[in-house]
Order: sequence, then structure tokens, then C-alpha cells
Amino acid sequence: MEAEKYSARNYHPLPVVLVKGEGVWVWDKEGKKYLDMLAAYSAVNQGHRHPHIIKAAMDQMESITLISRAFHNDKMSRFLKMLCEISGFDKAIPMNTGAEAVETAIKAARKWGNKIKGVPADRAEIIVCDNNFHGRTVTIVSFSTEEQYKDGFGPFTPGFVSVELGNIEKLEEAINENTVAFLVEPIQGEGGVIIPPEGYLKKIREITRKNNILLIFDEIQTGLGRTGKMFAYEHEDAKPDMLILGKALGGGVYPVSAVLSSDEVMGVFNPGDHGSTFGGNPLGSAIGIASLEVLINEKLPEKAAELGKYFADEIKKLDSPIVKEIRARGLMIGVEIKQEYGTARKFCELLMEEGILCKETHDQTLRFTPPLVITKDEIDWAVSVLAEILQP
Ligand SMILES: *Cc1c(COP(=O)(O)O)cnc(C)c1O
Repeated sequence: MEAEKYSARNYHPLPVVLVKGEGVWVWDKEGKKYLDMLAAYSAVNQGHRHPHIIKAAMDQMESITLISRAFHNDKMSRFLKMLCEISGFDKAIPMNTGAEAVETAIKAARKWGNKIKGVPADRAEIIVCDNNFHGRTVTIVSFSTEEQYKDGFGPFTPGFVSVELGNIEKLEEAINENTVAFLVEPIQGEGGVIIPPEGYLKKIREITRKNNILLIFDEIQTGLGRTGKMFAYEHEDAKPDMLILGKALGGGVYPVSAVLSSDEVMGVFNPGDHGSTFGGNPLGSAIGIASLEVLINEKLPEKAAELGKYFADEIKKLDSPIVKEIRARGLMIGVEIKQEYGTARKFCELLMEEGILCKETHDQTLRFTPPLVITKDEIDWAVSVLAEILQP
């Protein structure tokens, strides 16, 4: 394949070349059709080329696309107003990729710590969780616990400590007077669809509040309907101090991310403190508005709750002897394969043959995160294929 000659080998894709997508379906060069059960790691919640989002993008391209933040544009304000209204936060800062939004949240938390909480300069600590995934920049991999993500990329950014996800005691022990934030995914996605114990989100909300620490949820993957609520923290009514969104905010069309927070936290940013040439541009903002409209108008969070439960129950009913565990919340479903039956990659390849695309996370987990526009019939078909594939 040509990609192997010209592309750096930082990915190990399945051997399929996709040329067209529509809704939950994608097609390869030979015209073979596949059900997309990855949805670009949850960036295509609205389905491929959703007509409402494509129309918004095309219309915007007819007027203006990029001006930088040196001037105002009419779309960004509408987009951020909508985001704040949906989530109940005061202010938002628009960026492009997820990693940039995470970096933005880290900068905001540190500056809040210094200017408002009174942590001495350069002493701020942020607590994160073992097995986290927040992106690939040097600062972000600095607090990864995955050896491969760090190997050869040092020196790293100091100021982070990692604790076990789900462990309240370890979190409390890690807190000191310089702690400014606890950054966590409500459900670990890349980590293998790891769901913390019930009550955890509520508990960490209490602890962070009590200790004057910002609670930051990275909902780049879990947010925007994926888990059966607009935001995963709503399952436990644990609204954070800062919320990070990305992926499906761009409707599978364009990179759009954002950080949301209170007037107090966002107030630490002054003109010139932070920025992005492309962040909040009219095209991205128009796409962001349309992406949110689709989620709301088509009730995709509610659909994800209902169909996700159905899908997970149907997989459980297969009672496959090779499956170690099924972890699911909404349409975010992890199926862990017992080691003695081979790696998840092997099963991804078998599924590809049968017309289903998904991707392993770590070695043993198959992750199913289809577009939220999937239908019950399509799920039934997928389950019938899984019934054949999930065999010794
Ligand atoms: C994908 C992801 C990121 C990184 O987003 P990019 O757009 O790839 O930079 C960060 N956090 C979580 C939870 C993610 O799933």
C-alpha cells in the first residue's frame, strides 16, 4: 500500500482503503461496504457526511472560512453561546484538536491555581489517573502511564501525579496544598472502556470541592451523546469545574474542540495569554453549531442509551466462551477477549472480512463505538456477525 511507502509508521491500520462514507456505512475502493463500528474513535457520532452538517459547512464556505481571532466573526459567538447553554457553563474557549483543548485546560487550571488559589509560581500539581489517555503532546504524554507513549520523547513536563481510577483513598492521599486540579475521563476510552465504580464521579466531585481543587472532565470521547447522556458526568449529576470537548463537536467533518468553565476560571485568561490561529474560525464554528443541532434534534443521546443497552445485552446473550468481560455505557462498548484465544486485533481482522470495522484498544479489548444514528436492524445484523466471529 502506498501509505506504507510515504507515511511515517505511527499507526498500524487495518488493510482497507476507504473512499466513501454515508451514515453508519463506509465503502472501500472495490465497492465493498462496511459497518463503521469505530466512528473515528467517536468523532463521527452524527454519522458520516450528515446532510445537515455538510449543508452548514457548504453554506459557510460560500461566505467566509478563516479570519483568525484578530477580528470578530458572527458564527463563533453563536457556537459558544449554544455550547454554554447546553452544558450550563459560563464561558468557552474554542480550539481545534482534543490535545490542544486538554493543553488549554491544563494552562487554565495552573493559572487559576497561581492567580486565584494562591499556589506559588511553578509549583502547581495536577492529579491524573493511571491508564489515562488525553492526547499526544509532550506535556500530555508526560503524565501518561503507558510506556510506549513516552519512550524516547523525554524530557517531560513536571507537575503531575497519577492515581488509580476508582480509588478515592489514593486520590485523597495525593492532594496537597499545591494541587490545582484533578483531570480525569469519566470513562476511559483508549484505556479499554474502563468504567469507574458507581458513585465515583459524585464522590470525586465532593472531594475536589472540599479541597478547593478544580475537577476537570475530559469528555472528548465520552461527551456529546456517546454514553447515553449528552455528557457522561450527567449519569451521576457530577458537573465538573471544567469540561473538555472535541471529536464529535466537529461532526466528523472538521476538527473542533472546546474547553468550558466558569467566569472565575476563564477570567484568568487575558488577551495574549493563549490562542490558536484556527480556533473558533467561522467554518469550524458553523460546523460545531450544526453538529450540536443534530445531536439535539435527533435525540442522539437518548438513542445511544436505548440502543447501547440493547446492543450490549444482545452481545451478552451470545454467551461467547472467548469473551472475558463486556463493559458498556450507552453506545460505548468494550468486549474483552480472553488471552488464550488471541489478540483483539485478530478479531478485528475477522470482522473486517465480514464487513464490520472496529479497532482494538490495548491488546485484548474490541471497542464498538458506532455512529449514534445506527438503527436496531443494523445492530441485529452486527450481532449476527459477532455470533459467528466470537467463537473459539
Ligand atoms: C481522542 C482523545 C483525546 C485527543 O484528541 P485529539 O483530537 O486526537 O488530539 C484526548 N482525550 C480523550 C479522552 C480522547 O479520547
